Amino acid sequence: MKLMDYHSHNRRCGHARGEIEDYVKVAIEKNLKEIGITDHFPLGVIIDDPQLEDVIKRASMEVNEFSNYIEEIKSLREKYKDKIKILISTEINFATPGRALTRQKKVLEPFMDDIDYLLAAIHDIKWHDSPIIILDPRESSDALEKYSIDKINLEYINKLYKLVDTDFFDVIAHFDNHRVLLRPNVPKYSETTWQKLLDLLDRIKNKGMAIEINTSGTLKNVGSQFPADDIVKEMIKRDIALILGSDAHRPEYIGYMFEEFINKAKKWGLSHLCSYEKREQKLVKI
Ligand SMILES: [Zn+2]
Ligand SMILES: [Zn+2]
Repeated sequence: MKLMDYHSHNRRCGHARGEIEDYVKVAIEKNLKEIGITDHFPLGVIIDDPQLEDVIKRASMEVNEFSNYIEEIKSLREKYKDKIKILISTEINFATPGRALTRQKKVLEPFMDDIDYLLAAIHDIKWHDSPIIILDPRESSDALEKYSIDKINLEYINKLYKLVDTDFFDVIAHFDNHRVLLRPNVPKYSETTWQKLLDLLDRIKNKGMAIEINTSGTLKNVGSQFPADDIVKEMIKRDIALILGSDAHRPEYIGYMFEEFINKAKKWGLSHLCSYEKREQKLVKI
C-alpha cells in the first residue's frame, strides 16, 4: 500500500535542511500517498527570555513566520495536488497545561481551520525540585547520575498524562522520547511505572488520540523506532490509532524505515494505520 509520512521539518526551524518543497519531492519519488508538514511550532511563543534567543532560533521558526509557513504549505498543496496529498500541521512542544498552552492556542487560533492534525511532543521534563532536564544527552548527561532511570520514566509518563488530559492534540510524537537519555539501552520500567504506562495507553484509546511511530529512533541510537517494541505491541493490542512519521530533518529521510517497521509490526497484529484531514481521523487498512 502507499504510505503516509506525518512528521517532517524544513530549514525554517534552524536545524533542518531544505525547503518544504524538497521534502514533498522526495515523498513523491518514494511513492508516498500523503506527507504531513510538521515543522516546530515557534518556541518564542512560550519563552520570552532574551538570553535564550539563540537557543530558540536553533529550535524553531520565529513567531511571525508561522503565517508564512501555513501559506507556503497551502500553495504547495495546490501545486502538487495531482501527485500527493499535503497536510498542514505543526509539532508543538508541550510545556505545561496552563499558561504556555494558553499562549500556544492563541497563536494557533486564526489557523485552526487550515490545520489537519496537531502533533504534540515532549522535549524536556521537570518536577517540583528538579532542574529542567532537556531530553538530549548532550545537554543532560548528568541527569542519570542524579536520578534513577525509573524516576525519569515516571516523570516523563506523568508529563504525558498532562498532555493527554488537555484534550487539545490529535497525535503524540516520539512517544518515549526520554529514551534518548538512556541510549543505547531500552529503559527498564518498574512494575508500578509500567502499569502506569499501560493505564495511560487505555486512556489514550478512550480519548481516540493517535500515537506516532517515529522511525528516527533508529538514527538517534535508541535501538528501534519510538516507542520501543514492547510498547508498540501494547498499542496494537489495544487497537490504538497509529501514524507513521520519519521526523525527517533532511529530505532524504522522508519515509525512512517505514517498510521495515510495517513488516515487523504486522507479525504483532498491526492491520491499520490512521490518516487525518481537518482533524478528522480515519482508519486505513495496510
Ligand atoms: Zn527538529
Ligand atoms: Zn520532536
